Amino acid sequence: MFIGHYGVGLAAKKLDNRPSLGTLFFASQFIDLLWPIFLLLGLEKVAIDPGNTAFTPLNFIYYPFSHGLVSVLIWAVLFGGVYYAFRKNIKTSLLLGGLVLSHWILDLFTHRPDLPLLFGNHLKVGLGLWNSVILSILVEGSIFIIGAYLYIKATRAENKKGQIGLWSLLIFLGIVYVMNVFGPPPPSVEPIAIVGLFQWLIVAWAYWIDRNRESVSPRIGLA
Ligand SMILES: [Zn+2]
Repeated sequence: MFIGHYGVGLAAKKLDNRPSLGTLFFASQFIDLLWPIFLLLGLEKVAIDPGNTAFTPLNFIYYPFSHGLVSVLIWAVLFGGVYYAFRKNIKTSLLLGGLVLSHWILDLFTHRPDLPLLFGNHLKVGLGLWNSVILSILVEGSIFIIGAYLYIKATRAENKKGQIGLWSLLIFLGIVYVMNVFGPPPPSVEPIAIVGLFQWLIVAWAYWIDRNRESVSPRIGLA
């Protein structure tokens, strides 16, 4: 669901213009930012298995700490709680916690039943949208395009950096997505974790973009 999670982060700016796009991405992709770290630490397990679903060659064997429902609820509360401790804004804290949880809900629709509810490896759920490549691209692509549209409507570039930075990020994410779908499966598990870690740079990129864009405040009165 790579691109869909970024779409949700982009769209959230329309709901609340206080947090940076970087913070919104940080929340909506939080559990996928943890996942490569847990893989490298040997806490979670993935295998390459072409045809696992039509959409992905990855078999998510064991990832209860990043993608178990109970863990995600804890991460969501922690994320919102840490934000509240620093910014004392309950509305934004709730939104950010909701974004952390939104990742799991989107994954629930796309993954085959490999998402654990608890910490063990029984009780797994997933509705399997990824069994259809066309439907996956349609749903995920739509979420991303709608999100990008809402972010563009909610903000305005203050300078060239704010404009070129945003468009290059959107195009970059689109290209990575297409390569993921149509490219060959990864040669081994390690590159998956390394590439996964690069998503932290996307968060940093989004902070930089947001600093070069201003919120479009809603029009008041007739003026
Ligand atoms: Zn995920």
